[in-house]
Amino acid sequence: MSPRLVDGFGRAITYLRVSVTDRCNLRCNYCMAGEVQFSPRQDVLSIEELEFLTSAFVACGIRKVRITGGEPLVRKGFMHLFEGLSRHLKSGALDELCVTTNGILLAKYAQGLADYGVRRVNVSLDTLDPVRFAEITSGGDVEAVLRGIEAARAAGLSIKLNAVAQKGYIERDAETLVQFAQDLGLDISFIETMPLGEVKSNCADHYLPLGDLRSLIARRWTLADTEETTGGPAHYARIEETGGRIGFITALSNCFCEGCNRLRLSATGALYTCLGHDEFTDLRSIIRQEGRAADLEDAIRLAITAKPRSHEFGSAPVREPALKRLMSALGG
Ligand code: SAM
Ligand code: SF4
Repeated sequence: MSPRLVDGFGRAITYLRVSVTDRCNLRCNYCMAGEVQFSPRQDVLSIEELEFLTSAFVACGIRKVRITGGEPLVRKGFMHLFEGLSRHLKSGALDELCVTTNGILLAKYAQGLADYGVRRVNVSLDTLDPVRFAEITSGGDVEAVLRGIEAARAAGLSIKLNAVAQKGYIERDAETLVQFAQDLGLDISFIETMPLGEVKSNCADHYLPLGDLRSLIARRWTLADTEETTGGPAHYARIEETGGRIGFITALSNCFCEGCNRLRLSATGALYTCLGHDEFTDLRSIIRQEGRAADLEDAIRLAITAKPRSHEFGSAPVREPALKRLMSALGG
């Protein structure tokens, strides 16, 4: 099938990430500061508005939707969104509906997600060590995440672990995390820290190019590059000893924007065509203004025409964040 949304650089746009809240039950040091200014409630889209907007993107040609946050599983009524969007899976209009979560509440919701057609879940997990987990997340309980992973497996969901590669932390945890993923037969991806917003842990202090991390992992396992993709920005390597797969999301050291197929919708209805730029299209005001719903498709197409070629984070972080916006506003 030929792509129906194409940007000004000829890239097919097939993937929408929808943030359903900017709130979270954790405070990861690379993502948030202690005190965060969340969006005022009246600006946040209702579940019905989120479903309406997401469905408009599907009608325009989006084939994959990822629900994210903040922490999507803390959003009241979020299951109704999955219920509503599952009709696009049934009709064949959507290939995939998936979710990114910190896993804390996953044990409670894994089966329900599977029942609504979710097949893949990304779980963020930076360490298996309870003390370091609590330190990175400001008090989170790693056992809850592990119970969430078990429940997701029991529900038949395929899981990818995502770990942010923070210098000073990940060196101690990468091997254990990779081994854990191999034992359970899960994919795992490492992500370079990106300089977004005023957070607790300055990106410049904790930036580790993933080439260095790969060398560390390669002391224990033999890694072979592969062209495989799951439709996201990761470059994958196969572990020859186990047949498992490791992804490397090199936002800074090896910019992946050339093949970008993504759009991002915030919980307040702002459409961002690039994680690394401030410009957005306000879709909330379109759907909340009487008689303007017909303008929605035009606004989406116009925004896509202006999608920037690339983020401008540079190839290594400086102390000042590249953008004021936190990662939790758009969910990665
Ligand atoms: N709360 C959910 C979670 O943690 O999976 C979803 C939202 S979270 C913002 C999405 C992903 O962004 C997580 O994998 C998280 O580790 C990652 N992330 C957050 N801040 C980041 C940063 N500054 N640089 C790189 N990745 C970051
Ligand atoms: Fe919350 Fe996810 Fe950000 Fe951690 S990375 S603070 S879990 S939104």
